[in-house]
Amino acid sequence: MKRRDGLQAIKGNPDVSVLIIGGGVNGIGLFRDLALNGVDALLVDRGDFGGGTSAGSSHMLHGGIRYLENGEFRLVNEALHERDRMLRNAPHYAKPLRTTIPVFRWFSGLLNAPLKFLNLLDRPGERGALVVKLGLSFYDFLVRKERQMPRHEFRLRQAALSEYPQLNPAIVCAASYYDAWMPYPERICLEMALDAEASHEAAHALTYVSAIAGDRDSVTLRDELCGEEFRIRPKVVVNAGGPWIDVVNSGLGRGEQRFIGGTKGSHLVLDHPELLAAARDSEIFFENDDGRIVLILPYFDRVMIGTTDIRLDQPDEAVASDFEIDYLLAMVDRVFPGIRVRRSQIVFTFSAVRPLPYSESGATGQISRDHSIRSLPADAERAYPIHSLIGGKWTTFRAFAEQAADVVLRDLGRQRRAHTRDLSIGGGRAYPRDESARDQWPRDLQARCDLPLERLRQLFERYGTRAEAVAAFIAQAKDKPLGAHTAYSEREIVFILEHEKVARLDDLLLRRTLMAMLGQVTPALLHELAEICAATLNWSAERKAAEIERAVELLRVKHRVELEAAS
Ligand SMILES: Cc1cc2nc3c(=O)[nH]c(=O)nc-3n(C[C@H](O)[C@H](O)[C@H](O)COP(=O)(O)OP(=O)(O)OC[C@H]3O[C@@H](n4cnc5c(N)ncnc54)[C@H](O)[C@@H]3O)c2cc1C
Repeated sequence: MKRRDGLQAIKGNPDVSVLIIGGGVNGIGLFRDLALNGVDALLVDRGDFGGGTSAGSSHMLHGGIRYLENGEFRLVNEALHERDRMLRNAPHYAKPLRTTIPVFRWFSGLLNAPLKFLNLLDRPGERGALVVKLGLSFYDFLVRKERQMPRHEFRLRQAALSEYPQLNPAIVCAASYYDAWMPYPERICLEMALDAEASHEAAHALTYVSAIAGDRDSVTLRDELCGEEFRIRPKVVVNAGGPWIDVVNSGLGRGEQRFIGGTKGSHLVLDHPELLAAARDSEIFFENDDGRIVLILPYFDRVMIGTTDIRLDQPDEAVASDFEIDYLLAMVDRVFPGIRVRRSQIVFTFSAVRPLPYSESGATGQISRDHSIRSLPADAERAYPIHSLIGGKWTTFRAFAEQAADVVLRDLGRQRRAHTRDLSIGGGRAYPRDESARDQWPRDLQARCDLPLERLRQLFERYGTRAEAVAAFIAQAKDKPLGAHTAYSEREIVFILEHEKVARLDDLLLRRTLMAMLGQVTPALLHELAEICAATLNWSAERKAAEIERAVELLRVKHRVELEAAS
């Protein structure tokens, strides 16, 4: 449904069963679950879907081997099973990831877990081979019944160095195991919002709509694109504001308790062919000199490195600082001492705040990564309860959403009638399961759609089985590649604009495509895309100029990307 129609529907009927504030992965996961269960839910986000913390993750779907030493066995178990569900339900956007841990000691760290458990150690300590072995064996054990990926393996120093010749020769061995990664996390958010709306006609998801105030039986929303305010009357409110949860509750007049104590994590995206080649298609996951676990992740033809963990109370201020950039560039030396990384190789940076549960003390790495629901019941002044979704991993969003949906369904006195456990997401529906079927899929499509095979392969890679709809749209009229980015065509961009709830130019650059993330944005591209947006979305000349200016500023301030004069 188009944004305009969703807004009209809500204004025409302001009584909704559930208002979800926040369109990150947790809010959208809940929205999908409720819509599937026949609940008329309204989801609003003050920005774009998945544009908050959900855009700032390390892009991993993982059990979180590190959390074992904090004793978070429940979380690791849940996360491993959810990771595997994502591989099945969203195979177009959840990919197996070989991960290698270079290990520098045999025995250290044996006492970390028990000491942390007893609260006698509050900083990371070095993990030796034996501890890594224990962790990975437990990892394998947890998924033994439905194994989808190979077990872990250890290689002694010489064998590890012959596979990764650039690796630090000071290692004693290396361990490799499989997790998963998400090339397009924001697109997963978008697709779930689209799926949810398709499953229930009275479920609406609106971007650029903020929840700004609450009174006895209503919540005031503001359309951030035009400033208009209007009220809705929900029976239940869910605050899925991620690191903004306390701000949202205060706005609703329920800020009496502090729930969130966030920590910032930043990443850099590098154009560094030598580092990319050294990682050999594996994520390199390792312990930095200070004991923090950091990663080097091949990301298409770029390399992503991260991350940091620094307390930050103002999520809007999250941006990669000079200190973090120096830290992240320097950490590469620990595993690949012969490879130099320079600031000039950074093409993009991103930073976000983990919505962790509030805790006054302790090392940041030790704050629980598990999720929980904190409820403020309805009372004499508020007719609706507010449930806040605290913490959680990207990986576990489905399970968390299911738990939250159960709470909401109970409030509404309704029974669950459908589950999301085996529900495919967007272009993961009817996705071919094996290599040869995947190879065949674009060929079969070609029989129904007159586009070159290479182009259909590219669309399949980008959109999974939704490529069929994209290709059909493209084939309906004359098309040509963008002048400033030949891997996309004009009709493809128009499809995205018309079918994927794009409201601003930066939605397109940052969240519907990887153009910004991969460092591909140029002034010429900005102008070309803005022109297509203006023609498709009816933007005036002033709006077009304002969108370009906003995108340039956003890239400069939030992502430290300087474009030459864009106008
Ligand atoms: C550095 C870092 C690395 C991470 N790496 C991983 C990883 O590799 N794997 C993994 O599983 N997890 C990872 N995580 C954790 C994961 O990203 C988060 O737990 C998850 O994205 C949180 O989603 P959310 O929906 O709760 O919050 P968010 O995505 O922040 O969503 C909250 C939304 O609320 C909206 N909002 C705020 N105020 C209002 C308002 N007044 N009205 C309307 N909307 C509002 C915001 O715009 C935002 O979109 C990482 C997190 C960080 C920070």
